[in-house]
Amino acid sequence: MNDLLIKHAKYNGQWYTPLQFCKKFELQNKTKKKNTLKLKCADGCDLIFKHTCKYYTQQGTQVVRQAHFAHKSVSRRDACLAMRKYSGGGGESYTHYRTKMNIAEQKNLKLIRQCADSDCNKKKRKYIPGNCYTAIEHRVNNRWLVDVAFFDKTTHLLKMVIEVKHKHGVDGEKRKWLIDQDFLYVEVGCNTESNTHLIIDSECVYYCTVTEGEIQYECELGRATREREQEKEEEEEYRREKWLQNQRIENQKRRMEEVIRVQELLKEKQRQREERETKWKKRMAKRRFLHNKATVLESACRAYLAKCKVQCLRKKTKAAVRIQSIWRCYKACETVKKIKKHRREMAIQQRQEEERHKRYLEILKEQVAERRRIQLIKDAEDRKKRREKRFREEIYASQQRKQAQQEEEKLAEIKRKRQRMKQREKRQDRKQIELQKKTVSYQKMINQNRQAFGLKKRKLQSNIACFFKKK
Ligand SMILES: [Zn+2]
Ligand SMILES: [Zn+2]
Repeated sequence: MNDLLIKHAKYNGQWYTPLQFCKKFELQNKTKKKNTLKLKCADGCDLIFKHTCKYYTQQGTQVVRQAHFAHKSVSRRDACLAMRKYSGGGGESYTHYRTKMNIAEQKNLKLIRQCADSDCNKKKRKYIPGNCYTAIEHRVNNRWLVDVAFFDKTTHLLKMVIEVKHKHGVDGEKRKWLIDQDFLYVEVGCNTESNTHLIIDSECVYYCTVTEGEIQYECELGRATREREQEKEEEEEYRREKWLQNQRIENQKRRMEEVIRVQELLKEKQRQREERETKWKKRMAKRRFLHNKATVLESACRAYLAKCKVQCLRKKTKAAVRIQSIWRCYKACETVKKIKKHRREMAIQQRQEEERHKRYLEILKEQVAERRRIQLIKDAEDRKKRREKRFREEIYASQQRKQAQQEEEKLAEIKRKRQRMKQREKRQDRKQIELQKKTVSYQKMINQNRQAFGLKKRKLQSNIACFFKKK
């Protein structure tokens, strides 16, 4: 509902929202007929009502269109003053509409205006023309729409115009024109409940108490207040000055008193000083007299004391000499005793020391013997070890020798064997040659050679054994 551009439509003098009108089926039908009353916008253009409907776009998304009013023709919509007036901010706001209706329907309307005087904040009821009927969104000067217009019931003349300010107020050319006219023009703030509205703009500057026919720059009440304050200030100033004067007089008096007091103090001090001086002189004279007497007395005392001292010293010396001799005797006895005791102790200590020394020597001897015994045992062990080692080495050497001998024997055996083998082979070869010599072919070859040398042929000798051997 909030984003609709046309939020209300007028039918037969009453305003409807789209939600209200969608329930009026008869009216919806009637407005569509020819030559009948039509739905009007605030500027008086013909409107049509469109119901809620759902449809799908080509992309397949569902769109819900809410019920709304629309201008019948595009040209009227573009020229419409109401559309222009509420084009910014998505149409007329609900608060603005409610305030407008509250003013238009109010029977007991009150307008109050605040005094412009700096020292007067009085709010006074503004006279408004009575016996009027109202019209909302009335067209003026064929250019603008005013929120509420008041017309005289008998003459039907425009008597007053009220504009409601919500976010945007009336300004510029429209305001200038409204002020210049004969009728009364006021601007008020939003107020949907009360019948009393505070004026926030109108012609001239307003002062609550004025004398007719003069251009005013202050109100009577303000002036009275200012005069009172000025009087008060003057009185205050006078009082302050008087107080300052009193202060000055008092200060002077105080200073005078102070001077007198200081003078008296100085006098008193002088007197005291003089008194002190006389006292001091008296005391000094007395002291001198006493000093003389005391000197005589002191010399007598000194003589007496010296005498006493000498006598006393003599007595003391005698006593001291005696005491000293007794003390020396006692001390000598003590020393002798101490020396004897010391000697005894020394002898005992020496004996003990000698015994200890003897014991120590014995222990040392024992230790030396023990060490020698251990050394002997060690030497014996060493010798034994050396012997064992030598024995082992001899055994090892003999084994080595035996082995070498055996190896030599083996080598000699192998040599003999090889010689035997060679002799056997030689024997066999000789035997073979012998055998060969015995063959027929050999004998023939010999005969051939003999023949060649001109010798006689030998007789061929052959046996069966040779034959087999040849084969
Ligand atoms: Zn219109
Ligand atoms: Zn005033």
